[in-house]
Parts: sequence; structure tokens; C-alpha cells
Amino acid sequence: MIIVIKQGADEAQVENLKRLLQSKNIEPHISKGSLQTVIGCVGDVAQIDPGLIEALDVVESVQRIQEPYKAANRKFHPDSSMIDCSGVKIGAGAFAVIAGPCSVESEEQIVFVAKAVKAAGATLLRGGAFKPRTSPYSFQGLGKTGIDYLLSAKKETGLPIVTELMDFKDIELFNDVDVIQIGARNMQNFNLLKEVGAYTKKPILLKRGMSATLQELLMSAEYVMASGNPNVILCERGIRTFETAMRNTLDLAVVPALRRLTHLPVIVDPSHATGYSYLVDPVAVAATAIGADGLIIEVHNDPQRAKCDGAQSQTPEMFAATMQRIATVRKALFK
Ligand code: PEP
Ligand code: MN
Repeated sequence: MIIVIKQGADEAQVENLKRLLQSKNIEPHISKGSLQTVIGCVGDVAQIDPGLIEALDVVESVQRIQEPYKAANRKFHPDSSMIDCSGVKIGAGAFAVIAGPCSVESEEQIVFVAKAVKAAGATLLRGGAFKPRTSPYSFQGLGKTGIDYLLSAKKETGLPIVTELMDFKDIELFNDVDVIQIGARNMQNFNLLKEVGAYTKKPILLKRGMSATLQELLMSAEYVMASGNPNVILCERGIRTFETAMRNTLDLAVVPALRRLTHLPVIVDPSHATGYSYLVDPVAVAATAIGADGLIIEVHNDPQRAKCDGAQSQTPEMFAATMQRIATVRKALFK
């Protein structure tokens, strides 16, 4: 249920309404937008008579929300959310590019890539320390050491870091990580989503599961938000279809489709979506043009020798060229 507040409503009366809702075990989420203020109600709203609320002086209208996601719903929060990633903003017009290798392989490697992607204009550094690999015999990531190396790269370049959490038992290692990634394979690990949402308000980069519908993606965001962390960034990274020519099938229309359903920022991962470095540039440009709030791109110093995802990794030179084209598109369409 959402309650639309009249323009210029008396603050004290809005406060009274908030307390009334709380007394009925409803959690009010106030969103002061540019056009209107709305109170999103989470809890057992069936017990509330909308007519009684509508009769209040400060209330313009009351609407029931049909969708099962509430906090993530744009109806709850009409303005787009801007998420602050240690000073780098994503969403509501702020565009960010996260770049770096699939996995952290050594301190020299991550520092080198961090400097290269920063020089090309990336605003955040990625690198996996805990890797969700399909085979138990593949490189599993450097774990804690990988996070230490990411922190060195952050110190050298000032870039905030993004890395994946697979198991909540490792959360304390993430104290100095700026954005916590929850990967596609864990998108419906509801315990992990609840634990991480309750533990931290750090931005969570939530990747779409490979067979997840948009509603399922939004319900996973809802888990994090309902646990106490409103700072969720959604990421489209391709889904599994009958097509095998590429690693996944990029579902690019989700960017405007999600924009309508949610206020959360939406970014695109052209690397995992395609699996081939030659496709990363055109797909990154297309994702920018369709209005994504950012991109996450795999860049490796030596893709042929990468321990993970080399075929889809751009070299620093390719990445720099892509960044130029992205800037051209942004300038033409959004500035
Ligand atoms: C990754 O970002 O390296 C990764 C494993 O992504 P996804 O969860 O989208 O497969
Ligand atoms: Mn990868």
C-alpha cells in the first residue's frame, strides 16, 4: 500500500500518520520526491482500511500495490535512487563503469589493471577473490589474499573496489570492500541475501540469476532491502536460452523495463553476457545507449593467460577504446 501525501502537508500531521502506522506494526518508508511525497507501507496492510487513511487531512490518495516487491517498487519511491559507492555515484543520471579482471591473480596484476582502467576512465575496480567456478578443479580465487591485493590497488589508485561474497562466513574480510557483489549463482541464496542485508548498508551489486525473471530479481533485491539495506544495484549479465553461440543471451530490454518497475539503478555486464571480448565493445555501447546506469567490464593485462574468463576479457587498450565510444554515446544522448 502507498499513501500519497498532499503537497505542502503539515509535517507534524505526517509524523502522526507515521506513528499511527507503526502502532499497527506497519513499517512506513517515506520517500520525498521531486513531485510528491509518498509513504510506502510494508507489513500486514490487509488490516488497514484505506478509507480511514484517505479521510486524513494530509492524505491525497491511498493505493494498494499488487506487486510482491515493495521497497524496490518505483511506486514506493517515484524518483530514481542514486547509490553512493564510497563517493562514486550510480543511478538517477550518474553513470559509473566498474572494470577489472575476473579474478585477482597477483598484487602486480591487480595494481597494473587498476591503474590502466583508471587512466581510461573507469570509476570502480572489480576483481574476484572468492570465485564461483563451475568446476571444483578450476582456479577458485585467492580468497583473503585476493582482497588484500584489491586493497593495495585501491590504495594506489583511489578506486573503490567491488568483489563477490559467496559465503557469509567471510563477511569480515569485506570490511574495507566498497561494493559487495552477489553473483548470478547466489541471486536466490535467500539466507545470504538476508544476512548481508542485515549486516551492512554497503552497496550490494546483485547480478541476475541465469534463469531468473525480472520479478525474481526484484524479489531478491527485496530480501536485501527488507533486511535493512536499501542500497541495491541490479545487474543484467545475460540469461540462459537455447542459443549457444554466445556464453549467455543478453536481455537488453530489461534496462528500460526495470526502470519502469523499480527505482534501483540497473547496470549491464557485457563480458559475462557474451563470453567473447570482440562482442564486449558493441554490447557496452548498446547498453549505454539504452540507458543503463553503468557497466561492469572484465579487463585483463594478458587475457590469453588469464586464470578465469580470458576469452571475454578486454585488454586495457580495448577497454580504453570502449570508454571513448561510451563517452561519445553518453554525450550524444544524455548530456
Ligand atoms: C563475475 O562477475 O566474475 C561473475 C562470476 O559473474 P556472474 O555471477 O554474473 O556469473
Ligand atoms: Mn568472470
